[in-house]
Amino acid sequence: MKKLILSLIIIGCSLSASNAQTYETQFVKPLGQVLREIGTRFNIKLKYDADTTGKVVPFADFRIRPYSVEESLTNVLSLFDYKFAKQDEKTYKIKAYEYPRRVSEDGKKLLAYLNGLYPDSAAWSTRRVALRKEFRQLLQIDSVLAKRVHSKSILSKIRSYDGYSVQNFAIETLPGLYVCGSIYNPLTKGKHALILCPNGHWGGGRYNKDEQTRFGTLARMGATCVSYDLFGWGESEYQVTSAAHRTTAAEQIQLMNGLTILDYMLTRKDIDPKRVATNGGSGGGTQVVQLSVLDDRFTAACPTVNLASHFDGGCPCESGMPTMLACGGTCNPELMATFAPKPVRVISDGGDWTASVPELEFPYLQRIWNFYKADSKLTNVHLLAEKHDFGANKRKAVYEFFIPTFGLDASKLDESKVTIEPEIAMHSFGEKGEKMPTSAIRDFAQVEKYLNKKADAKAHSDMDLEKRAQSFVDSLKLNDKEKEIRVKAVITTHMKAVRDWHNDHPFSIVPKGINPRTAEVMTDVHRDVIACSTKPKSVHENLMTGLHKDLTEEQVEKVLDLYTIGKFQFTLKGFKAIVPNMTEKEEVYVVSQLRQAREEAVDYKTMKGEISAIFEIYKDKCEKYFNENGRSWKQMYKDFTAKIKAEKEAKKKAETEVKK
Ligand code: ZN
Repeated sequence: MKKLILSLIIIGCSLSASNAQTYETQFVKPLGQVLREIGTRFNIKLKYDADTTGKVVPFADFRIRPYSVEESLTNVLSLFDYKFAKQDEKTYKIKAYEYPRRVSEDGKKLLAYLNGLYPDSAAWSTRRVALRKEFRQLLQIDSVLAKRVHSKSILSKIRSYDGYSVQNFAIETLPGLYVCGSIYNPLTKGKHALILCPNGHWGGGRYNKDEQTRFGTLARMGATCVSYDLFGWGESEYQVTSAAHRTTAAEQIQLMNGLTILDYMLTRKDIDPKRVATNGGSGGGTQVVQLSVLDDRFTAACPTVNLASHFDGGCPCESGMPTMLACGGTCNPELMATFAPKPVRVISDGGDWTASVPELEFPYLQRIWNFYKADSKLTNVHLLAEKHDFGANKRKAVYEFFIPTFGLDASKLDESKVTIEPEIAMHSFGEKGEKMPTSAIRDFAQVEKYLNKKADAKAHSDMDLEKRAQSFVDSLKLNDKEKEIRVKAVITTHMKAVRDWHNDHPFSIVPKGINPRTAEVMTDVHRDVIACSTKPKSVHENLMTGLHKDLTEEQVEKVLDLYTIGKFQFTLKGFKAIVPNMTEKEEVYVVSQLRQAREEAVDYKTMKGEISAIFEIYKDKCEKYFNENGRSWKQMYKDFTAKIKAEKEAKKKAETEVKK
């Protein structure tokens, strides 16, 4: 009933709608059944990549639009945050919402939006600096890099082949954690170009034939290539298991690995620091983009079959960390653009998400390179008839990029000269890691401990609270720097105390049971309120004393309103609308109760749950007050809803008459 007050005031017409939706069955059907019926009705086949068990659809049949399968699917699936992908004329795949994946139409809109942010090169330069900074912060890479041990690389015997050699390496990054890989070296003397080759999710990993062929061929032409395992793949699997790859740690560890290998390679006398690139395909291409953002020592980049404005990479090792939220929202092409005006070749094809590159991403990138009058340094090789792989034509495009860019010897381009090695030959620590040092860790939990995942989450939340406190202070327009700092500190301290108490005292610590006043089973929100109301009184007192020290009464009230998103005014307005001719005495009472509600509510965390529950307590008190002082709340409320209904009908009638 009380919730209705709010919606009635906002919408003014929800009454009839809500009455219409009170049929006891709600026309509920299981989701699986609804989808089967849609399949039959529209004669389509549905494939499932999302779980339908236990899910029910209210008003199921009403959601079906007889003229549109897609509208019907949207109406049903959006209830569960599911979506569909059309695979062909007769087949749709049902999927759960994926935050890194959108459609090319969305990519188009995003790129147009981004272009609008930088009409000229000066605006772009500002954005570029901010993007690179926020990307690092969101990746939390610097705290990971700071924990590295900097021990000596373990190098294997060199294996010599036709025009190049291969040597395995293992580098300890965090204590007891290793990154393993192979270095493909030219046999020629002097300094060589360096190409860091992070791996994608190809079958067989870095041991894959396509991968070995590319590294061997580039080495024959004069570039040192370094290939290394994904986290939880190859030899890393024997340290942390393959499951570790599907964690957000994978993204941080892989990029740390890339930067650590770069550090090591640049200490070598046979490497030319003026010619340093990254090249990788698919997930390896995502790493190319990320590495190029993180380190200025790279001088060229060749992202292959990955770069899209509407897909960030679907593996946690690519999009596990919230880096795409940098500067209000970015995408891989914009991150790649921060590398301009250095040489970049984008390789794309018609058979995966890079199909949009010639129309969308490449023109976007060209505009950025044009800011530097360096458009000749940016190229796209689009293989329309090809699919998602690192096949011969994609490799050819890589060679043809690096030959002029790094001055490689084109006469040595001959893939047939490369020897494909068995996986075991490329291991540093034996077949299944049995030769690892005894200090090597064998547990992913240890890595999580290093990365301090829990503390990081808290740091992130701290950042959010600080931003919120700052926005409160900004809206007060104090024009006094020191006062601002003090007020912000008081609010931030209070917010953190409320959050920490809430997180450390979950509702589950309050036993399930009945509310002794109503005999109703206690809701989780009520249990939450009980758990959170046990916090020390000083949390609240420090806030109020701190605020009063620097602010006027009016300003303090404003802060409390910001905490509770204006619920005080909103609810007061509701009472005034429902109670006819509210007397001054009545208003004084209601205002005092809602003031009390507002001041108590600031000590609770969840807006829809706890804070609303606190307001409910005082709204109940007000209703009781009216009943005890000669009014009938029930009658007033009934009259009010009838009035709203009548007004709505009158309006409708007036509109129809205008139309006539
Ligand atoms: Zn991955």
